[in-house]
Amino acid sequence: MTKSEALARYRELVSLIEKYNYHYYVLNQPLVDDATYDELVAELAKLEEKYPELRSPDSPLNKVGGAAVSTFAEVRHDPPMQSLSNVFTNAELFEFHGRIAKALGTENVEYSMELKYDGLAVEIIYENGVLVQGSTRGDGEIGEDVTANIASIKQIPKKLIGTILPSFISVRGEIFMHHGEFERINEERMREGEVPFANPRNAAAGSLRQLDASITAKRNLDFAPYAIGKVEGDVVPTSQKEIFELLKSLGFPVKEYYAFGTIRDVEAFYRRWMENRHTLDFDIDGIVVKVSRVEYQRKLGSTSKAPRWATAWKFPAREAVTVLESVDVQVGRTGVVTPVGNLSPINIGGVVVKRATLHNFDEIKRLGLRIGDTVKVKRAGDVIPKVVEVVKKSEQGMEIAPPEKCPSCQHALTFEDIYVRCTNPSCPAKRLEYLKFFVSKDGMDIEFFGPELVQRLYDSGKLLNISDVYRLQKEDLLAMERMGDKIADKILTSIEGRKKVPLWHFLRSLGIRNVGEHLAKVLAKAAGSLQVLSRMSKEELMQIKEVGPGVAESVCDFFHGEGGALVAEMLSLGVEVLPEESVTVPENASHIAGKTFVFTGTLRTCTREKAEEIVERLGGRAASSVSKKTDFVVAGEGAGSKLEKARSLGIKVISEKEFLAMVGIDEGS
Ligand code: NAD
Repeated sequence: MTKSEALARYRELVSLIEKYNYHYYVLNQPLVDDATYDELVAELAKLEEKYPELRSPDSPLNKVGGAAVSTFAEVRHDPPMQSLSNVFTNAELFEFHGRIAKALGTENVEYSMELKYDGLAVEIIYENGVLVQGSTRGDGEIGEDVTANIASIKQIPKKLIGTILPSFISVRGEIFMHHGEFERINEERMREGEVPFANPRNAAAGSLRQLDASITAKRNLDFAPYAIGKVEGDVVPTSQKEIFELLKSLGFPVKEYYAFGTIRDVEAFYRRWMENRHTLDFDIDGIVVKVSRVEYQRKLGSTSKAPRWATAWKFPAREAVTVLESVDVQVGRTGVVTPVGNLSPINIGGVVVKRATLHNFDEIKRLGLRIGDTVKVKRAGDVIPKVVEVVKKSEQGMEIAPPEKCPSCQHALTFEDIYVRCTNPSCPAKRLEYLKFFVSKDGMDIEFFGPELVQRLYDSGKLLNISDVYRLQKEDLLAMERMGDKIADKILTSIEGRKKVPLWHFLRSLGIRNVGEHLAKVLAKAAGSLQVLSRMSKEELMQIKEVGPGVAESVCDFFHGEGGALVAEMLSLGVEVLPEESVTVPENASHIAGKTFVFTGTLRTCTREKAEEIVERLGGRAASSVSKKTDFVVAGEGAGSKLEKARSLGIKVISEKEFLAMVGIDEGS
């Protein structure tokens, strides 16, 4: 590359990056994915290194984030809110440590290892324990005043607690959104004809930077505090450990995912979270490593963009490029026909991927996708990989047209909105998917009842409808290939054990169109009992907050159609749907007062929110994460990392039954 070519490319890169920054930071609608963006930034950095004379003070490499938008008042950050440098390998991490050890004159450095939350950074100021200002990071020096919005977030204390309050404290951390909330909001946006958010980070940023704070309040944002900008008063923390302790004692929702150790411990922390990030119900894009001692942090100082005492180690992008070889169509439980791409097998982040969802035929059109094209495939957590982009068109590419008939029952398909649907109520593929869903974790959660067993029972004619689950006899199960006596017993015990089911859980399992877990809870709470809900008219249903005409219609259609008959059969076969008000808060249980409870896993008698409400009404505290201050961890089914943590900290773990006994509720009363 000649120098003039380098200059032209440099200018091109700067203008591209600035454009992408504006769309990402200001509009919350990124034009490209992070990996593509990061490649451009790396290319710019290489050019600057090779031709230092190209370097200018307003290079995007010297700037943090995006400019504040004039619709918000400006807030100056003191000290500025910086970005983070990056490392990509363990070797680079040790180079980072080498620079630190040299500057400090010691190898003996303790590091804080934290998750890198994928949200947006904010600063919240408290004077004499009262929240007085909240702002976004903006360009690092000047952010946007979003005080009302920040104050509307439940997780953020409006008043600090504790005996010694700092006269002034500015707390910094990440506002982020949980996956369930992201899906709920996007469903809502799509229903209202709005463009869905690209990812939870953009959804969090879009929800916080609202002119109307009541919109932010409805968005259930979470906050992970991780730093103090400035603190005045009697308690001045001297390490990152003390910062977390202080923030916790003041009432901040410090997340318990951090650890401390030497530089040798960092790789294990990184690997652990890279492998387990899918167990979190929020996005992280790497880990952050920080020198723990504040005195050392001061000594090390910072560059114009980032502190020298901290760095981010990002997870590799879980994307790869391969060829789309053919397309199959699958019929889902609601009859929606989904195109699925068969790919040339490709390893993405340690997993060989052969198939990827293409979502719907509109998406295929939007991507301009044809069979034979070279495509970019993305894998996120446990979900099915998806084709996100056509990288190179094939010259002999074949068009992908939606089928006219259902591949399972040959019924003519209907085209509704962006969906192609089989409306035949007795379509075998639909029935089978519905049955698989009904017994799965997202349904009645029956143990050892996997999709293969559903298929075999369906083929044998023993399981044709969801009510047949409750008619199954041991000999029906034993007649299945590879079915042992013990497993058969376990399945039947699990079916029996799940017969008593809270209303919301039952509704979720029925798989009514448009009714997921959230709406199931809304409907259960509003109607109170199955009897009431099943008799409600469309108009009555539409009176319920969050229930629109689409949901009202599908609920009515379900109960007045085949669904109602199936429910009646299930009730006659012993299913007992617990009315919502069956869990009443007892008057007196003084031994709960002052105790901190953490709930984990799925509770069978009531929702987690209800259990937390009970604790709080009895004067206890319900926390979201386990710490030394937790008194009891209530372990429901499928309890995971919180349970492990409780055990490692020696905290008392009790079952749901023990909890109910403790608060004086008879199970199922
Ligand atoms: P960054 O996200 O790489 O790192 C700094 C940020 O990390 C902090 O400001 C803070 O918000 C966050 N953070 C999360 N957990 C933290 C913790 N425990 N301790 C300290 N900080 C923590 O840097 P950035 O400058 O905010 O953004 C750069 C990145 O944003 C790029 O690498 C790119 O992936 C993405 N980006 C993408 C586009 C796009 O168009 N797709 C555009 C601009 C930026």
